[in-house]
Amino acid sequence: MGCGTSKVLPETPKNCYVDFVKSVVKCNNKQKLCDEEPLKPSGKRNDFWGIYNPGEYQQQQQQNQHLLWQEGVKRNKIAKYRAKFDSRVTARYDIKALIGRGSFSRVVRVEHRATKQPFAIKMIETKAKEGREVCESELRVLRRVSHCNIIQLIEVLESQERVYMVMELATEGAFDRIIAKGSFTERDATQVLQMVLDGVKYLHSLGISHRDLKPENLLYYHPGTDSKILVTDFGLANSGNKGGDWSMRTTCGTPEYIAPEILLRKPYTSAVDMWALGVITYILLSGSMPFEDENRTRLYRMILKGKYSFVGDPWPSVSNLAKDYINRLLTVDPSERMTATQALKHPWIVTMAASSSMKNLHRSISQNLMRRASSRCQSSKSGQSSRSNRSRRIWEKEILERNLKYQPHYEQQ
Ligand code: ADP
Ligand code: MG
Repeated sequence: MGCGTSKVLPETPKNCYVDFVKSVVKCNNKQKLCDEEPLKPSGKRNDFWGIYNPGEYQQQQQQNQHLLWQEGVKRNKIAKYRAKFDSRVTARYDIKALIGRGSFSRVVRVEHRATKQPFAIKMIETKAKEGREVCESELRVLRRVSHCNIIQLIEVLESQERVYMVMELATEGAFDRIIAKGSFTERDATQVLQMVLDGVKYLHSLGISHRDLKPENLLYYHPGTDSKILVTDFGLANSGNKGGDWSMRTTCGTPEYIAPEILLRKPYTSAVDMWALGVITYILLSGSMPFEDENRTRLYRMILKGKYSFVGDPWPSVSNLAKDYINRLLTVDPSERMTATQALKHPWIVTMAASSSMKNLHRSISQNLMRRASSRCQSSKSGQSSRSNRSRRIWEKEILERNLKYQPHYEQQ
């Protein structure tokens, strides 16, 4: 799983405004930058032996101009984000590219100027109360954890209106890789899930609930096939101590992944993460969602009833053991739901789907994912869901609170 060798860290800052969190980080040094490197002009050479073709020449010229234009746009973008960074941050880190964004945060790929090591910096605007809350809860967790399947915080830098979390740099999201890979079997799914379960089991043992587990928050560490998976984004995490008040009440999460007990506004436990893992497993194996409806009230009803099915492609090709694993996670009663420890002992995970066929599920998964993406694109064009993940999440918190005025109605079902 590659949690091995140690990485040299940025030097200790001279001034004390930097809060150094960890001085040594364990990680895999296989990490390479594989994402948005500055665009280079097309590698295609002019064919020395070729016959001069004016049409082709013009096309090539246009292509080059387009690439130059793209490069210019990219430079401007980077300059814009650089400007948002405190000069003391940019003195230590060279900002290379924007790699993610939410409504309070921007994530950039950076290079430490002295050591040339790549990192990610998540910049959170703390002017607004919500931004501050998200930031605090994320830091509270990241400062406590150290596990090879949990993103590692390196240091925290603060200015008056922003917090900059320097973290180890991951590469692509779990789904991006599955789609790019061209093949995906149940065995591959169990490998991914085992790593996520290891991370989640560790979090739960510390009394931490993530509360926003979803594929977007599971990232591969490096581009190699043996890369570990990292659980990221602790903005909604609860870090209550195991010995103390272990239950939670706040309604939060991402709608399709929210556990029924959250919707019922009952005090809940870390079992909500296990429900989300059931949803993730369903998506990993099929590319479709177990609970999905444009209409939130209908979606929440489906979740409360635990109403999902294994109908359509590729479910006929999926083993009963995999379905049993999902069923034991998508169990409405949280006390009956598998814990992370139990899930790690489930025969489907233990045997790494040895009794399943090695059928390649990739085609059905990509088709279902694409179908979903295009229908979401359609609805965002018609203005129904044009918000970013983060805003959707926070916004959803309000919606939930409003919808849950009808809680007795749900409970009757
Ligand atoms: P948000 O709370 O806005 O969802 P995330 O922490 O999930 O914030 O970051 C947003 C996106 O930025 C992620 O989906 C991912 O694509 C990218 N990202 C976040 N952290 C890292 C990291 N350490 N390495 C690489 N990419 C990251
Ligand atoms: Mg996220």
